[in-house]
Amino acid sequence: MRRKVAAGNWKMFGIKADLTEITAIAAAADPAVDTLICPPATLITAAVPAAKGTVLIGGQDCHHLPQGAFTGETSAAMLVDAGATHVIVGHSERRRDHLESNEMVRAKAEAAIEAGLIALICVGESLEQREAGTTLVAIATELDGSLPNTSTAANTIIAYEPIWAVGTGHIPTPDQIAEVHGRIRAILRQRLGDEADGIRILYGGSVKASNAAEIFAAPDVDGALVGGASLKASDFAPIIAALA
Ligand code: PEP
Repeated sequence: MRRKVAAGNWKMFGIKADLTEITAIAAAADPAVDTLICPPATLITAAVPAAKGTVLIGGQDCHHLPQGAFTGETSAAMLVDAGATHVIVGHSERRRDHLESNEMVRAKAEAAIEAGLIALICVGESLEQREAGTTLVAIATELDGSLPNTSTAANTIIAYEPIWAVGTGHIPTPDQIAEVHGRIRAILRQRLGDEADGIRILYGGSVKASNAAEIFAAPDVDGALVGGASLKASDFAPIIAALA
């Protein structure tokens, strides 16, 4: 039985005044659901006490090396030191804006795992790939290239985030989500054997209270990675409730 995950990606939103939202999310957290918020790196240390031990706190990216002369970067070990338990790697905005390749995402995931973090690895097709009918090939290439050989059910979570659904209000049909999640599960089995059955696969892209139940009813959906609707407890609490 895989525990459900409600994960929030705050992106470049949030200052200290917004930590009250994390405390309000903690009040709404359900013991049956792993609730995770990934705030900006500047807030991680302060977010941990605000989370009251019921919300996990993660980073949004990490470098693949533990330290060095890399201005502006944050290592996985630094995230651990700040109190993070998880880190998102390979988000489509990082792949797009920082030209992160599958190899780079894999190196980051390996570094995260090595440092003791749970790596939340994102994959997703573009609109062009969806319309060309090459979604499953695109997902297979991204996942195979981004997944460390050291991945286990305990240290890895996969998020399927169609690029055209992130921040747009558009979502795939439940059948389309189920098809991709099934393919991801098959690839995980090829690579990792029985261990694959324990790896959580989240859907991400315009999840909100009004569509959460429909999305979560699709087979092999173990939770959600949520952007905009994770910033306010009033929006995120119903999504957690839909998973409980
Ligand atoms: C995301 O940033 O990972 C995301 C899914 O964003 P949104 O929920 O706003 O589409």
